[in-house]
Amino acid sequence: MTPQIPDSIEQACFWLARRAPRGHTPLAGAREADVAVVGAGLTGLWTALFLKELDPALEVAVVEQGLAAHGASGRNAGMLSETVDHGHALAIEHFGEAEARRLARLGETNVAEMTAFLAERDIRCDYEPTGRLMVALTPAQVEEARRTVATAERLGLASFHLLDREAIQAEVHSPLYLGGVRVTGGGILDPVKLVDGLRGEAERRGVRVFERSRVAAVERAGAAARVGRSAGSSPTQPEASSRNGAAAASAVVRRGTPACSAGKCFVPRRTRTVTVVPWFTVLVTSMVPPCSFTSSCTSESPMPEPSAVRAFVVWPR
Ligand SMILES: Cc1cc2nc3c(=O)[nH]c(=O)nc-3n(C[C@H](O)[C@H](O)[C@H](O)COP(=O)(O)OP(=O)(O)OC[C@H]3O[C@@H](n4cnc5c(N)ncnc54)[C@H](O)[C@@H]3O)c2cc1C
Repeated sequence: MTPQIPDSIEQACFWLARRAPRGHTPLAGAREADVAVVGAGLTGLWTALFLKELDPALEVAVVEQGLAAHGASGRNAGMLSETVDHGHALAIEHFGEAEARRLARLGETNVAEMTAFLAERDIRCDYEPTGRLMVALTPAQVEEARRTVATAERLGLASFHLLDREAIQAEVHSPLYLGGVRVTGGGILDPVKLVDGLRGEAERRGVRVFERSRVAAVERAGAAARVGRSAGSSPTQPEASSRNGAAAASAVVRRGTPACSAGKCFVPRRTRTVTVVPWFTVLVTSMVPPCSFTSSCTSESPMPEPSAVRAFVVWPR
């Protein structure tokens, strides 16, 4: 018998499938706002919320093609982590040591401010301050764990701790683990509850959120912008006119790699997330494309095979 494959991301994604059914308001008829935001993910909702807090009189509308959290914001690993650049070594590589040190501090501040925000606004997203555990499966990964801790210490962080075989096995009793790194700070949360919490908070402050309303065109309309559900929307078609616009529709809902221009393109990294309840263990396998992409790659290019596999395990203490 062929197993039934859910035909919708709302059924297939662990977090989205747990969300209780709820009503929504689609964009119907013509609406006006000072700012129209396309996309109700973390970026869109936070943008809307902060704009409203800066100026409560501002009329802000968010237009989302699915329900809020339809994109990456509802389909991620749910890890609240203190690294801004996926790792401090990467931050040094990308921006140099002085900037990486600043980013490391910002990352820690970010976690503190975010958790304070959740508490203040009573956003219930099952946040648990678990910290993070990275496990090493090979001697090379044990070396990498050592380098990870040394790099963090060099940047002035006291939150990274090297674990030997005995210490890691006391945490997770698997003979496969040769060592690892414990990071204190950060934790796990339910990303869909986080987005819905932000949506509720934004709506309480007067932001209008229109869902199941795909934006097909953003057009100039004099000094304003028209966010239409079809190109060249007539006044009878659903549309939102705004004096300003913000695009918060990220690339994750696109299929494949965006076409390249001028020899540059965005290459999505594959990440697989396995969530196991009731222990609430999250295992993320991160795969880094080995090849460098050239201007000849197109949106139809196949994803490369993984060159490296790493495992992270996070669970409540
Ligand atoms: C597999 C995976 C795991 C991750 N794990 C983590 C993690 O553990 N911790 C962490 O901090 N980050 C993680 N991230 C990154 C994080 O999820 C993203 O950085 C973040 O969600 C981006 O938010 P966003 O609002 O910019 O984009 P999105 O959440 O993608 O929001 C864009 C929204 O725009 C909507 N949209 C798109 N086109 C249109 C249109 N034409 N009309 C109307 N609406 C439209 C989409 O439906 C979507 O809701 C992960 C990402 C992925 C993909």
